[in-house]
Formats: sequence, structure tokens, C-alpha cells
Amino acid sequence: MLIVMKPQTAEEKIQGVINYIKERGFDAHVSRGADHTVIGAVGRKVIDKRDIELLDGVSEVIRISSPYKLVSRVFQPEDTIIDVKGVKFGGGHIGMIAGPCSVETYEQVDATAKKLASYGVKVLRGGAFKPRTSPYAFQGLGEEGLKILREVADKYNMLVTSEVMEVNQIPMFLKYVDILQVGARNMQNFNLLKSLGEIRKPVLLKRGLSATIEELLMSAEYIMSGGNREVILCERGIRTFEPITRNTLDISAIPVVQKISHLPIVVDPSHATGLRDKVAPMSKAAVVAGADGLIIEVHNSPETALCDGAQSLCPEEFAELFDELKALASIVKKEF
Ligand code: PEP
Ligand code: MN
Repeated sequence: MLIVMKPQTAEEKIQGVINYIKERGFDAHVSRGADHTVIGAVGRKVIDKRDIELLDGVSEVIRISSPYKLVSRVFQPEDTIIDVKGVKFGGGHIGMIAGPCSVETYEQVDATAKKLASYGVKVLRGGAFKPRTSPYAFQGLGEEGLKILREVADKYNMLVTSEVMEVNQIPMFLKYVDILQVGARNMQNFNLLKSLGEIRKPVLLKRGLSATIEELLMSAEYIMSGGNREVILCERGIRTFEPITRNTLDISAIPVVQKISHLPIVVDPSHATGLRDKVAPMSKAAVVAGADGLIIEVHNSPETALCDGAQSLCPEEFAELFDELKALASIVKKEF
């Protein structure tokens, strides 16, 4: 961090700042200009920039190193490829995840998965524990839902992802799922993130409704700093002033994240838009912008879905889209 002192600051104030940062474990590199003195604080400790801004004689504090380490490309220049039992995300591979918003019945999941598997989808999604805005809305089938997902996925040789909401659910999830999903509402549930750092299964981490890209990356850092290096990031739209779509898909998050981080980033066009007819154009945009994967809601009968039917594709619509996405992927030199 660079500490710029006010013009003509007295020597004892400069010395006061140097002592302050040294006492907190930093080395001080001082550069004296005609007017300004700049102090470079170098060290690995965490310090609140605002505390330095308040010191006598300080004009400005500029942070030059990123707060995240393990998620950063500085730590690892090459792309991380998350290989979930042969299904790859990152480094030129686009992973496709599809399935209903929630698990409702065995028949519903079976009918949807049967078609998805026939189109070549390898990862089945479905919520068993649902974070709903209203306590009166369908809350999911719980463990029964996870059992259904696993059984159907095994039948069609698919993998499973589902959202885990609490620390104490993790052992149960480890029995049934291949990827543990952290929903937007839990992106900053730090206890959950720390516990997911201790497991050795991939985590799909969704961006919070109002989270910055830096906050998303810091949440990934929580998981990675616990030792779990298999984190897939997910851009799922952010809350803006625009009410026509459910959220606003931040397409620029894809190249922004990819420049800062080596982790793969997938896009959820279903929650990002909330509107079925917007899912195809946003999926195509995501692939062209370099997404490392997609997670799309598909329901065998969207009209009767208990949750998010309006943003779910029917299997046939999905099949048509998947073909188009494969063609686009080859143009950007990637493959599903
Ligand atoms: C979901 O994918 O089921 C979900 C609830 O999404 P989000 O956490 O992004 O709202
Ligand atoms: Mn949903």
C-alpha cells in the first residue's frame, strides 16, 4: 500500500506514520519528493486502510495488492480446470448443468433428466432445500429430494448439484451430490464457506444479489483458504434498478473475473433474467463472452412447476438451445 503524505508535512509526522506501520508488521520504503513524501508499506499483514487515512499528515492511501491470494492469477497464472468425474469446467471446457429449479416428485425429475441425458447433459441440477422469499412458498422436499436426484442421476449416468443452506447439512449432501451449490443468499455465510473449505468436493459458488465481484472472490478465498481448491464461480445476475428482468445479468463479470482469477466462472441465465424467452439469448451471450459453463433451469412441464416455471425451459427448447450453444462454443474455440 502506498501512503501519500500531505505537501510539506513535518518530519515528525512522517516518522509517526512510519512507526505506526512498522509496529503493525510492515516494512516502510520512503520516497521523498520536492513536495510530497510517499511511504510504501510492504508486508503480508492485513491492515484497515481507513486507520492510516486518519493518521496526522496523511493525504491518501492507495491499496496496490489484491486482498485475495489463492483465487488470484498472481498465485496461479494458468486456468483452473475443475474436473468433476470427467465433466470439465474451465480452460477451454464449458460445463453444462441443467434441471428443474426444485425437486418436486420422482416422476418430474425422471422425465426431465431422461430427456436431458439424451441431449448429452451430464450434470443434473435441482433444489431440495429451497431458499424462498416467502415462508409460505414451497420449501423443497429436503433429504427426500436429494435421494430422488441421486437415484435418477445414477439411472441416466449423470452427476448432481444441489444447494446446501446450512453447515449441519454438509454431511448429508456429501452422501448424495457431486457438486455442492452455495446460493446467492448464502454467498457471505462465512461459517458455511469455512466448512466447505474443509471438504474435498467441488463447490459452485453463486454471486450474491448485491455482491461486488471482489466480494464474490473473497468468498471463494474463504473456501480455498480452508484447503478446498475446487471452486466454480457463478454469475447469476445482480439486483439493479431495472424491474423488467428479475435481475440484471452482468456479462462483463465473465472477462473481469477471468482476468483477476484462474477459477472457472459459469453463468445462470435463468435466475439472471427470470424470463423464459430471455434464457436463450443470455446463454449465447455468456458463451461468446467466454463463460466456462452454464446452469439452466429445465422442467418437463414448466406450466405446472412449483417454483420458477416462468424462467424454466421445456426440454425441447433446451435441446434446440444446446445445439446452438455448441456451434457458438466452437467459434470461441471452446467445447462442451
Ligand atoms: C437456484 O439455483 O436454485 C437458486 C436459488 O439460485 P440463486 O441462489 O442464484 O438465487
Ligand atoms: Mn430457481
